[in-house]
Amino acid sequence: MDHVSHPEIREAVARLCARFPGEYWRGLDRDRVYPTEFVNALTEAGFLSVLIPEEYGGSGLGLGAATAVLEEIHRSGGNGGACHAQIYTMGCVLRHGSPEQKARYLPGIASGKIRLQAFGVTEPTAGTDTTRISTFARRDGDRYIINGQKIWISRAEHSDLMVLLVRTTPREEVKRPSDGMSVLLVDMREAVGNGLTIRPIRTMINHATTELFFDDLSVPAENLVGEEGRGFHYILDGMNAERILIAAECIGDGKFFLDRGSAYAKDRKVFGRAIGENQGVQFPLARAHVQVSAAALMVDHATALFEADQPCGTEANMAKLLASEASWYAADQCLQIHGGFGFAEEYDIERKFRETRLYQVAPISTNLILSHVATHVLGLPKSF
Ligand SMILES: Cc1cc2nc3c(=O)[nH]c(=O)nc-3n(C[C@H](O)[C@H](O)[C@H](O)COP(=O)(O)OP(=O)(O)OC[C@H]3O[C@@H](n4cnc5c(N)ncnc54)[C@H](O)[C@@H]3O)c2cc1C
Repeated sequence: MDHVSHPEIREAVARLCARFPGEYWRGLDRDRVYPTEFVNALTEAGFLSVLIPEEYGGSGLGLGAATAVLEEIHRSGGNGGACHAQIYTMGCVLRHGSPEQKARYLPGIASGKIRLQAFGVTEPTAGTDTTRISTFARRDGDRYIINGQKIWISRAEHSDLMVLLVRTTPREEVKRPSDGMSVLLVDMREAVGNGLTIRPIRTMINHATTELFFDDLSVPAENLVGEEGRGFHYILDGMNAERILIAAECIGDGKFFLDRGSAYAKDRKVFGRAIGENQGVQFPLARAHVQVSAAALMVDHATALFEADQPCGTEANMAKLLASEASWYAADQCLQIHGGFGFAEEYDIERKFRETRLYQVAPISTNLILSHVATHVLGLPKSF
């Protein structure tokens, strides 16, 4: 089942991950601690700057290289959630930033000196309906003054910069609801305690996610990315990369569960024989393999379109849906095959089971993908 793409990257990532075994992740999970050593190791090895062009100090590779990195992290039993956004959030600056912004930020992001791995979109009252965000940035001379609130903003405490989506014109005053939003780069080092408050949210997984409160936070107008009012479109085109990369993480999770489930089924003896001799145990694993393999092909397809600069929104969404459901099915079967031991922390199954569940909700929930396919692909009437 293994992909042949980027074998040397996969091997190098797998070697690095071997230095961070299950007990490392278990310890962090227990105390909800950020995996600083792991993220530093990935940064030093250059794996988080694969998408940054060489002229800015990155390796200038395509999205497939990044999918290889994240898939291998997840296959090893680790989790890329602590740092995956360092790989792709910079895309907003790369594609829409001014030459000055690129020169100022990208080399630092490539070296890891600047961590740009927070992006603030979701708000408590707007939910998935992003056009209803109400965090507002009011222009005041050469500054923007921001007021509002965000929720589920991951890694905010471990980021030097944040890509923030705000309204700069109220929804009622624009032609299309998606107009009138803008992207600002927020320097977290200056903002925290000066108008920005971060409140961590404890969740069922170790994800360093937070709630943000903006109270007259002042940001230089030169931190506006692209044109005022076009921010929603800038954020949207970064989402395809994000969905493909998250799908690759799900494929890695699926393979982790298949590796562990198959090994356990061969090893565990009950009624005088390996449980894996029973077809009732074999078939769910075989089905999981079929589903993960099919989803992996969809991830490859979406990646190829993305790399060729072709429209890939639908394919990126479909890849994310298939991969998140395949990894969840594999997780459920792997847990079942482990019997009671599936619930024991030391096997890492229950942790990965919790972790892979996220991807049917974030970064976009399954229903919203189905709605996109129904209306944009099948031409069914819009329901909202
Ligand atoms: C751990 C974690 C980390 C996250 N990190 C970030 C981050 O770094 N930055 C960021 O901006 N956001 C982040 N998010 C937010 C995430 O993108 C949202 O949670 C996700 O998009 C779902 O939005 P919501 O929670 O507002 O759900 P809602 O929009 O409230 O939806 C709730 C449920 O209703 C369903 N639903 C809603 N409308 C419809 C409809 N019209 N038809 C059918 N079903 C519908 C949805 O599918 C969903 O199942 C994170 C979330 C989590 C849990």
